[in-house]
Amino acid sequence: MTKITNVEVIRLKAKQPSSPNYVWDQPVARPYDKYPESLYDKENWMAIGAGEVVVKITCDEGVYGLGSVGGYKLVPGDIIERQLKPLIMGKNPLQITKLWDAMFQTTIPVGRKGAAIEAISAVDIALWDLFGKLAGQPVYQLLGGRVRDAIPVYCTGSDYEYHKKIGCPNTKIPLPYGAIAGPDGLKKNVEYITKVREILGPDADIMIDCWMSLDLEYAIKLARAIEPLDIRWIEEPFIADDYDDYRRLRDILNPMGILVTGGEHEFTLYGVRDLIEKGCVDIIQTDIWRAGGVTELKNITAYASAHHMKVIPHDHGGAGPAALHITLNSVNSPFAEVLMRNPDTSVFTNQPKPKDGFINVTDGPGFDYEINPDFGDIVE
Ligand SMILES: [Mg+2]
Repeated sequence: MTKITNVEVIRLKAKQPSSPNYVWDQPVARPYDKYPESLYDKENWMAIGAGEVVVKITCDEGVYGLGSVGGYKLVPGDIIERQLKPLIMGKNPLQITKLWDAMFQTTIPVGRKGAAIEAISAVDIALWDLFGKLAGQPVYQLLGGRVRDAIPVYCTGSDYEYHKKIGCPNTKIPLPYGAIAGPDGLKKNVEYITKVREILGPDADIMIDCWMSLDLEYAIKLARAIEPLDIRWIEEPFIADDYDDYRRLRDILNPMGILVTGGEHEFTLYGVRDLIEKGCVDIIQTDIWRAGGVTELKNITAYASAHHMKVIPHDHGGAGPAALHITLNSVNSPFAEVLMRNPDTSVFTNQPKPKDGFINVTDGPGFDYEINPDFGDIVE
């Protein structure tokens, strides 16, 4: 029987911000904008851009799998080292479902949502990469194979003219100003979105990412103001726990032809089940790092399919192609998000890039990646 012989946590500090064109070149609405900037460190905003945690799981055949989770300053790396590593050492890495359940059950007192699930996700992604290497197959093949040859994409970021240039005009823009910016911010938002529509033309999909920075009143006013601009969806207007406001907003926006989407900051199938059953969103956008990795994201996709809902996983940019393998394999994931970032700053090599409206993964074993030696420096 194959056994896990080592679990290493590698904390990497990025040499440069991962998404300079996305985060830094203009205001981006955030829920903590109500506080003075001095209360949060913009340089290390959620530690994104600062670095990533990579987990390397080796088995006794010397083969290893890699997974990651963002933010080297955050606690998932400690949870992996102190709680998950002792649990899975010496176990069969091919019993992924059993290991996932064991990790989930033993972290419940400090888990269920948040950093413990992010830690489990990183381990799960590494186990699937290891499985692929042992089997000599890409992960999408282990899941049941491709249901599409390539994935239609939309690009997320504020450099929408570049999206158009590379043949991927469908664009999700971060909303510059949240509810805290008031009527003046609303006016600037509408001017900005109007300009994006003018540049991208009438045929491009345009989506608005609000990153939990609105309230119900503001969201309704924003939607009415931009209704003539044919916006496909308004994303994550509120925190995922705000079920009633999601449902009420959806009741108002759907008749206007605008979808309400979310789930990026929700955790596991339990969390997504509540979003679906309470009628909160039109599209589920779970992040593979918050879902619980490949194992639980497939469960989420299956559950959503029984409700005739699409799952378009959030692209964390740094997570590599893991979520794309699931999208390639899932009937109810007909397109994908690509967070536009500096391709040289991906933590893994072989980062897929969008071109002419599509993205794809390579066919090597596992996720077909290694740690990018140019990404950053190891920190203790
Ligand atoms: Mg988002």
